[in-house]
Amino acid sequence: MAEPRPDFSALPSVDRLLTAPEGAALVETHGREPTVAALRHVLDDVRTAMADGASPDLAEAVLAGSAAAMLARADTPSLRRVFNLTGTVLHTNLGRAPLAEAAVDAMADAARGASNLEFDLSSGRRGDRDVHVEELLCELTGAEAATVVNNNAGAVLLLLNALALRKEVPVSRGELVEIGGSFRIPDIMARAGAKLVEVGTTNRTHPRDYADAIGERTALIMKVHTSNYAVQGFTAEVPEGELAEIAHTAGLPFAVDLGAGALVDMERWGLPHEPTPRETVAAGADLVTFSGDKLLGGPQAGLIVGRADLIARLKKNPLKRALRCDKATLAALAATLKLYRDPDRLAERLPTLRLLARSAADIRAEADTLAGDVGAALGDGFEVDVRACAGQIGSGALPVETLDSAAITITPAASRGRGAALKRLAATFRELPVPVIGRVQDDALWLDLRCLDDVEGFRAQLAGIADK
Ligand SMILES: *Cc1c(COP(=O)(O)O)cnc(C)c1O
Repeated sequence: MAEPRPDFSALPSVDRLLTAPEGAALVETHGREPTVAALRHVLDDVRTAMADGASPDLAEAVLAGSAAAMLARADTPSLRRVFNLTGTVLHTNLGRAPLAEAAVDAMADAARGASNLEFDLSSGRRGDRDVHVEELLCELTGAEAATVVNNNAGAVLLLLNALALRKEVPVSRGELVEIGGSFRIPDIMARAGAKLVEVGTTNRTHPRDYADAIGERTALIMKVHTSNYAVQGFTAEVPEGELAEIAHTAGLPFAVDLGAGALVDMERWGLPHEPTPRETVAAGADLVTFSGDKLLGGPQAGLIVGRADLIARLKKNPLKRALRCDKATLAALAATLKLYRDPDRLAERLPTLRLLARSAADIRAEADTLAGDVGAALGDGFEVDVRACAGQIGSGALPVETLDSAAITITPAASRGRGAALKRLAATFRELPVPVIGRVQDDALWLDLRCLDDVEGFRAQLAGIADK
């Protein structure tokens, strides 16, 4: 039997679609070229469908509607806001620290136009971009000098390359950390051109291990804060003060990679103690490196504070140029650091601290008010509860400590096929206009509300779940 030939003449032309009211509206919103491309795409798809024997709706409004959906999809930014309901506050995959309003404003201001980024306004000469944060960093850490690069991995790379190129650096075997897969102390050491000398054992390292490792070719002694794991039981590490003494006796600098870099004692807000750069400098460290977007709560940056002569050597190294921060980062960092001058109001102003310090009771109360809305949006087929849970600080900071929190938990009622239903449910939440990221655990999707910063926004889009 001969197939009937599709009647392509029934298809409107691109020009005709463009002049129809729907097409004209698309041009107005998206511009002519993208609209023409989308309409061509839609017409191609329709032609293919017709050739395959289908009879798609050829109404102009319908075709323009398909193009509109295509254009809207293309307009959605790839990088966008999500609701972090994972229970991990400083989630590396979700962008770590949310910035303070003051930092966001400063960033926008710096980004919008010209600035004195590397220009000394008093002399009219070329300046140094570090000046915008150096004084603040010295004030907040007690160090003589400071410099900033793109992230803490870069800070460690720069430090080692500037001070230990083709030389040896003793590090305890218990501190050869890997952070998030792509940062490993031995690898960074190799890329920096320094030779790692492992000292001690995984669980115990003693002063004599370091003393024995020091030789002609030793450049410095380095200590790495084991931020994302804990060695427990029969353990020994050499305290910073003692290590500084060993290094100084041998005429060597002592460097510490602190990682998380809490600038103030977190115990004040009921959080576990995390060593601060100030304590480390006071203990005798000559250089201390830490991240800007972990506990500090600022933009991604690697901060290095310490002895002025050593910081000067770092600044002269070509890697400093390769790893430098841009103006928006420096503006956000300076604004964030300024907030630390007034610790009494820090928890109000610094979102990271505000989220970390939120009480479980407060989170539970919020979960109680929202659980009904979630249940109503999901309808039958799901059981919605509020349960206590344990969140994490994240970014490797304080790995053993958990944060008492509360979550809305959603369990598919039918036990058959529950695994697949949970996967679909998690995907449905991720497909919302502002994607909601929770975690699947123990037969349920857990939405830990510690980091829910926009309750109304969350509630408003729940209706979208019912439509899916
Ligand atoms: C997180 C961390 C790093 C890497 O810092 P980034 O800012 O993510 O580059 C390096 N060292 C330690 C000990 C860390 O905790």
